[in-house]
Amino acid sequence: MHLKTKRNITVALVGNPNSGKTTIFNTLTGDRQHVGNYPGVTVEKKEGELISGDVHIRIVDLPGTYSLTAVSLDEQIARNFIIEEKPDVVVDIIDYSNLERNLYLTTQLIELGVPLLLVFNMSDVAENRGVSYNLPKLAERLGAPIIPTVGFKGQGKKEIIEAVISIADGEIKLPQATIRYGKEIEKELRGLEKLICQKNVVPKNYDSHWFALKLLENDREIQKKISSDEVITEVGKITEHLKNVHGENPEIDIAERRYRFISKVCRKTNLSTGDTHRLTISDKVDRVLTNRLFGLPIFLALMFLVFHFTFTLGGYPMEWIETFFGWLGGLVTNWWQPGSESMLKSLLVDGIIGGVGGVIIFLPNIMFLFLGISLLEDSGYMPRAAFIMDNIMQKFGLQGRSFMPMLIGFGCTVPAIMATRSLEDKHDRLITMLVLPLMSCGARFPIYALIIPAFFPHKIQGVMLLGIYLIGIVLAIISAKLLRMTVLKGPPTPLLMELPRYRIPTPNSVLTNMWLKSYLYLKKAGTIILGVSILLWAMTSYPKKAEITATDPDAIQSEVLAYSFAGRVGHAIEPVIKPMGFDWRIGTAMIGAFAAKEVFVSQMAIIYSVGEADEASETLRDKLQRNYTPLIGFSMLLFMLISAPCMATIAMTKQESGSWKWALFQLGGLTLMAYVFSVLVFQIGSLLGIGV
Ligand code: GDP
Ligand code: MG
Repeated sequence: MHLKTKRNITVALVGNPNSGKTTIFNTLTGDRQHVGNYPGVTVEKKEGELISGDVHIRIVDLPGTYSLTAVSLDEQIARNFIIEEKPDVVVDIIDYSNLERNLYLTTQLIELGVPLLLVFNMSDVAENRGVSYNLPKLAERLGAPIIPTVGFKGQGKKEIIEAVISIADGEIKLPQATIRYGKEIEKELRGLEKLICQKNVVPKNYDSHWFALKLLENDREIQKKISSDEVITEVGKITEHLKNVHGENPEIDIAERRYRFISKVCRKTNLSTGDTHRLTISDKVDRVLTNRLFGLPIFLALMFLVFHFTFTLGGYPMEWIETFFGWLGGLVTNWWQPGSESMLKSLLVDGIIGGVGGVIIFLPNIMFLFLGISLLEDSGYMPRAAFIMDNIMQKFGLQGRSFMPMLIGFGCTVPAIMATRSLEDKHDRLITMLVLPLMSCGARFPIYALIIPAFFPHKIQGVMLLGIYLIGIVLAIISAKLLRMTVLKGPPTPLLMELPRYRIPTPNSVLTNMWLKSYLYLKKAGTIILGVSILLWAMTSYPKKAEITATDPDAIQSEVLAYSFAGRVGHAIEPVIKPMGFDWRIGTAMIGAFAAKEVFVSQMAIIYSVGEADEASETLRDKLQRNYTPLIGFSMLLFMLISAPCMATIAMTKQESGSWKWALFQLGGLTLMAYVFSVLVFQIGSLLGIGV
């Protein structure tokens, strides 16, 4: 029968996202397509057919990936399909205009040793940009034929079909390319390959060399397939050894070797004219900004500028707002007879104007901070920052991508936790999420801004502020490392990310972004903080004591306050917080701070304006200075930095981690850590007589 003489070929399409895979799939298969799911997972599987002469070609469009490391589900699917279904030809769709980056996936296909066809799609774009390579030479070096195409015009379709059939028939066969991983790694690879062959642990369909390579790359999917303890111990030993030799995890080293292979191959076959340079200003800028030597200092300088402007420029409007609230308080006070004791007056002036005003004062700082971050985000610099930080972050058990959420964490922890979604690996993501509250959020800033000038001389205030931010960062790093070593084991994933082109940020989007974040802050001041301020004011004012025994005004006030709810709660927890140097007033404010960190400031303001005999000229800062020592001030700073994040953060951690377990772990862990540090600092400081 006619059908029997037909030959069947299976072809898998792989490629980076946006390389034109789907376009080419559609061109090749026309309307003979069907969509299903991959067995076991609900990821869309597109299949189509193509008949050419007597050949029946089945084409499977695999999920777009940048790599085959099996970190994400998409990568796993693509890899498993290639290994287990053994397609006759793997067609790698490459964005020719972005060759080097796309070739990373190609190197991994080369490693797999599969019959490979390289389709250089977007060749129209490449041509426009002046990108050009000696394709025959490049094909020889990569060990696979290359066909340039323009996907959406159907250009190259015939050539692809012909090449696929020839490859399947074994008519075209270029010598396999090899990627060198360096003497040391290759020696270990050979040893490991021998061992796994002896132990018979390589599953069917898997190549032993590739299997050994993946073990060294710490590939979890592959590790799962191994039952021999001896092999696992050996892999651990080799990994340690390689780490000692190269100072880096083998997986990072191996990835770097792939890049090196790519850049060498490209350099040797590049025919691009000077034109390309004109067109890739972005690359030129990157050569400086992501330079191995200058990248980090430039990055730090940029961060410094952002913070510097935040505080210097923010200082002016801050004074205006402070003046405004002072004026408003005075205006409202004047509605009453001088000296009259009205509860409403107290609520308006001390509770609402004092509480909310104390927080709104910091709005300009927050706006400048977000302005800076929005500018960096919109210009496309942020991914570079992740790239620059990756090396350092890896050492601390995090990866470069964790850096972005952390930076956002300086604004507010809640969106920062949402930003961890860009981390594919579950452990990477959880660790980042758990330590995020240690990045001093915008709400912590008012606390620092209140306490630091109250206790420390002008000259060292800046250093103190920077110091407290740094302590948070260092603690976050240490905690991440500890988590990595205990509850969330496993190495951080190597960074592989798309660097978008630089753009000139549009004022519109930057301002929108800044406004949105500032608005959220204002909204918090208007809702949660207003509510909590009124509640705390009521707690500090009621119940009223009927008979007062003390005689001098100061003593009367503290008697009244001690009798109120807030006073009682504060007093109740005083024994627990005493070792940190805190009295019941601070304790009361700390409880308020759990609702939202900035409430600490408004709460202190309320307690002190309610509790102290009024001396109009004395600011809250003066009052703090009069009542506490610098050591207590520092202990307070530390506690507010480290301790329990606000309610919103806990709720977000629950939502994003999917369980209360992690949210409570974060809450408990940070509170305990804060307690231990503050107690230690206060006790040791007191013993040595520092700042008392
Ligand atoms: P996929 O993510 O790899 O499936 O990519 P798509 O097939 O969805 O293509 C991404 C975009 O690139 C679409 O807008 C296509 O129309 C466009 N595209 C595909 N091939 C070419 C090409 O050769 N040249 C140009 N300029 N655009 C292309
Ligand atoms: Mg697609």
